[in-house]
Amino acid sequence: MRFEDLDLLPPLLNAVAGEGYDKPTPIQERAIPPALEGRDVLGCAQTGTGKTAAFSLPILQYLCNTPAKKDKKGKSPVRALVLTPTRELAAQVAESFEAYGAKTKLRTTTVYGGVSQGPQAQALRRGVDICVATPGRLIDLEGQRIISLKDIEVFVLDEADRMLDMGFFPDIRRIVNMLPNQRQTLFFSATLPPEIRHLTDSILNDPVYVAVDPPASTVELTRQEVCFVERWDKIELLTHLLTNPEYSRVLVFARTKSWCEMVAKLLQRAGVNAQAIHGNKTQEARTRALEGFKSGTTRVLVATDIAARGIDVEDISHVVNFDLPDEPEVYVHRIGRTGRAGQAGIALSFCSMQERNELKSIERLVMMHLHRIEDHPYSSKYLPPLPTVLPDSHESKGGVEDPGAGLKRRRNLGRRYPGGGRLAGFRKRR
Ligand code: AMP
Repeated sequence: MRFEDLDLLPPLLNAVAGEGYDKPTPIQERAIPPALEGRDVLGCAQTGTGKTAAFSLPILQYLCNTPAKKDKKGKSPVRALVLTPTRELAAQVAESFEAYGAKTKLRTTTVYGGVSQGPQAQALRRGVDICVATPGRLIDLEGQRIISLKDIEVFVLDEADRMLDMGFFPDIRRIVNMLPNQRQTLFFSATLPPEIRHLTDSILNDPVYVAVDPPASTVELTRQEVCFVERWDKIELLTHLLTNPEYSRVLVFARTKSWCEMVAKLLQRAGVNAQAIHGNKTQEARTRALEGFKSGTTRVLVATDIAARGIDVEDISHVVNFDLPDEPEVYVHRIGRTGRAGQAGIALSFCSMQERNELKSIERLVMMHLHRIEDHPYSSKYLPPLPTVLPDSHESKGGVEDPGAGLKRRRNLGRRYPGGGRLAGFRKRR
């Protein structure tokens, strides 16, 4: 299918061509037609699938085709509302609206916390058609009567599962109650746990359900590797790896804000151009770090999962999981940051003795064994875990080692570390 087959207006077609997209992604192909018909859509798709264009193009088309109701002063109300979990994602979604709507007269603004509300209030008073917001600041501004949601015609809830994780559901319900019942709702979530299903039942009206696989890049294009390394050696290993110039734009995930800060500081001390991005940083510092990373002045960005949500930076050469996440789904979100837009990327995970179970859960979820990297100077002298038993182990998808290799390594260990391995000790006693 081509974009021309989607019945989009010429200014939108020109804009997507200008972005260099030659054909719609599966979520766009399947969500745009019902959205253009005015139907509610429940989209099960994650970042990297092109879901932003899947909702922003139909909204722009609807707003262009349908005249706005004006008040007595001739001012038109906010007509489309997009809710996102993070400020970064809000800024990115607004950028997409601006890019796709560049040849229209529609105006977009962002509303999020962590920055002064003055410029946001001014933009809203001047009049905007589309507002991309995070829940807290939106509720604040509505309470101050700076924005009214009673004329919203299209409502988008983006990354609903993240909103749930971040505890935004009470805020979302409050916001939904401020919206008119007569509206179109487009709902996107990477996963659909029962709480999300419950919400969709109450806010969507006879939706068209559209689900797409995770982006091919995560599963097929990204080379997924793991290094076994003890916790205390991880920073040394990362510094060592960064001596390789192929690590040109590296996104490092760390578990906590303080850990994230420390990794960035230790890298800086080792002469690496690194910045941290996490929720304790001011919005200005986060924007600066992101801009530096995008422009290439910052080589390594160290992020927490929440702060990294919505980071859409092209050409990330490596994603490094400095710590493995507790939930394996988060791993898939993380590695989706590399290998985007059809390019190959590398996702490297550091696994310590304490993280073996997390690795097993990840391997079961992605249904493959991550490629084991053993020839690095900080290789753990402890036993690497035996390969995970996969749900369908004969159907591995690549980057796979011989399933017996772990066992062979275990046998060899007595020879490599005399007296160190369990088998060697056993022999000694005999
Ligand atoms: P999203 O899932 O909306 O975060 O989009 C992920 C990336 O895919 C963004 O960098 C978009 O610019 C890009 N993208 C969106 N639609 C297309 C398309 N039809 N063809 C190629 N790239 C696209």
